Amino acid sequence: MRRLLLGLVLALTGALVIPAAPGAARDELPALSVVKAPSYDGVRRFGRTLVAAPGRWSPAPAKVRYQWLRDGVPIEGADRRRYEIRPADVEHRLRLQVTASAPGYADTVTLVKVGRVKHRVDVRRTVRYSVRVKGRVGGGVEVFTAQAQQTFDDPRGWRGKGVRFVRVRNGGAMTLWLSEARLVPSFSSGCSAQWSCRVGRNVIINVQRWRHASPAWNAAKRSLRDYRHMVVNHETGHFLGYGHSSCPGRGQLAPVMMQQSKGTQGCRFNPWPTQRELRRR
Ligand SMILES: [Zn+2]
Repeated sequence: MRRLLLGLVLALTGALVIPAAPGAARDELPALSVVKAPSYDGVRRFGRTLVAAPGRWSPAPAKVRYQWLRDGVPIEGADRRRYEIRPADVEHRLRLQVTASAPGYADTVTLVKVGRVKHRVDVRRTVRYSVRVKGRVGGGVEVFTAQAQQTFDDPRGWRGKGVRFVRVRNGGAMTLWLSEARLVPSFSSGCSAQWSCRVGRNVIINVQRWRHASPAWNAAKRSLRDYRHMVVNHETGHFLGYGHSSCPGRGQLAPVMMQQSKGTQGCRFNPWPTQRELRRR
């Protein structure tokens, strides 16, 4: 465990410089002095990449190390200059730790405040919705309700287009149904008992698919949780005015508006709207 000296130096830019020493014998070593404090470039939104600037030191360091932190905790694998913002960062605070080392000097650690990470875009539209059950679904409605909201709140989903979904007790602009399979066609003759569906304001999730995903999905060894994200995003996409898409090319991500439950025509299974789908007006 690296011990940090308590002699803190506040650099001109507000970055915190902490000379650190790995052991008692090195306590005597001087810290590097900061000429220009480390900083970062980039916009702190999901979908963006931040790039650390090492600053300038005297003497010039032999080595500079980076570690990005979320709410004060080091992020696994985030030890390079470039950091691609992750879904889990949204609504949390990032910091960058820069450690400069030179022979004959104590490692000198600087903490750079990055701040709270935002969604890709600000909220442009709020959809209030309620959750209802059709027929016998055999419990699990609370999990359904909670997981659907997670999908709506996820930075990778329609929230990335600026659409926020807020659940209300009754009514709202949209109804999210968990439906017994044989009752899905009761919403419209265009719906099948085999799949989920959307009819007007009704987004209908077939409980059989919710519980067991689909044969094509399972054959691709994708998780049930991802199927649930996909089916909620897909049917809600219809509510938002999207029709079906096809695979844009072998090996590419399947659009979420592709009927992935049935197969992907060589595209990769994908639970989230693609960049192209998010950009579409
Ligand atoms: Zn569809």
